[in-house]
Amino acid sequence: MTYRGKALAACLLIGALGAAACGSTTAGTPVGPDVNKVGGMPVTHFESGLKPDAPQPDIAVENATDDQADKIAIATIADVSEYWSEVMPKEFGMEFDQVKRLLSYDSDSDSMQLCGRNVQGEMNAFYCPPDDAVAWDRGVLLPRLIKLYGDVAPITVLAHEYGHAVQHRLGDKAGIPAEGPEPKTIVLESQADCFTGSYFRWIVEGKSKYFKVSTAEGLNAALSTMYLVRDAPGKLSGEVGAHGTAFDRTLAFREGFTDGPKRCASYNEQLIKERTTQFSFSQNDPDRGDMPVTEDSVRLIKESLDRVFDGKGKPDLQTTGGTCPDGSGTPPTSYCPKENVVTADLAALAQIGSPIDRQLEMSGEGSTGKGDFAAYASVASRYTLAVQKAEGKSIDDMDAALRTACLTGAWARGVQNPEQTSGSVIRLSPGDVDEAILEMLQPESLIGSNVRGDQVPSGFLRVEAFGKGYLEGATAC
Ligand SMILES: [Zn+2]
Repeated sequence: MTYRGKALAACLLIGALGAAACGSTTAGTPVGPDVNKVGGMPVTHFESGLKPDAPQPDIAVENATDDQADKIAIATIADVSEYWSEVMPKEFGMEFDQVKRLLSYDSDSDSMQLCGRNVQGEMNAFYCPPDDAVAWDRGVLLPRLIKLYGDVAPITVLAHEYGHAVQHRLGDKAGIPAEGPEPKTIVLESQADCFTGSYFRWIVEGKSKYFKVSTAEGLNAALSTMYLVRDAPGKLSGEVGAHGTAFDRTLAFREGFTDGPKRCASYNEQLIKERTTQFSFSQNDPDRGDMPVTEDSVRLIKESLDRVFDGKGKPDLQTTGGTCPDGSGTPPTSYCPKENVVTADLAALAQIGSPIDRQLEMSGEGSTGKGDFAAYASVASRYTLAVQKAEGKSIDDMDAALRTACLTGAWARGVQNPEQTSGSVIRLSPGDVDEAILEMLQPESLIGSNVRGDQVPSGFLRVEAFGKGYLEGATAC
């Protein structure tokens, strides 16, 4: 979030989204999806990872070890190869040629050459087109990811790298011409994320011999992994190496999961440009998008909510504690329907709202601070319950929880929209929406929860509902 002076007339556009008209916002038709279904599959809860009866993969990997990281990585290669061997003939009418070279390395101690570079210090996993090789750092990167998100993390990363190998095999069927320049990096990256989602669908459908993945915690882990390997805020989608924001990446994954690999193959620059959420820091953004959580800043958030929702429901704001007068609520911030008031515990919110520590995050420890937007979006989520109540909607069931995520997304859209923000003192900064995505994937997040704090049971659905409000506005909620 960024504080901006009233004199600043224009706010940055986010691709074509910013240009869309934004009229009066109301919570209209229901969000739609059944809260018990994820892309048409039932919501499930169980430990995700290798099946106890998984077969021994029969593939040659250079330099492999018995480490857990290699075990998961090699099983993923075997599994995802099987997936593409099945899908390519069926969906694209061509055979899948196995990837020629597979290499495991430890970026701390190994120093072999691959793809014209030395792997030493390469905390990475990658596909190398000239060598048709997939390589991964089993020494540092994969163990850190496993520590944070479990076995699903390396599956996500390697399925993505395999997605690049698939692209090169599909060629013009994936929009990659035989002659002339390749599509922009962001298109290739989004497509690989989308292919990752379509592969996860196959696992969830029970077709994998190696893995089982639940649609609640399992897919949360996959989406969180994508969050971790997102681009730095302010990096533009046209830049070399750009993967897209966490929002863009999870959208591509969800699309692959729901619509299948043909949809992914149809990705092109136009589509990605239209919906990318990446934008640059403004010159008037000296604090690089951090607005510390204070009495004043929370008041500004409330003002923006009053404006985006046209004063509907218009609850009061109290910052003397995060519960309701009768002791109920969802601290650190609550909506109290009897009093029509949103309460906020500023100290607790300030902790959530402190900047993300990227170093701590990448070390596998996880950052305590989730960024200012995570804190403000939690307050906004409580406010939207007043909007729902004013419209005669339920506020204590799962539909309410889903609407809350959607309306919080609509508010995010509202504070970035130029018409809405003229005269406003706050606007979105690069990385803000990603902070909300991270917050939504946490088990204790309020963004996709009802007045009692009961969450929509899957992060996938919470992110989807937020995205709907963010891309389409409150009428979509
Ligand atoms: Zn990639």
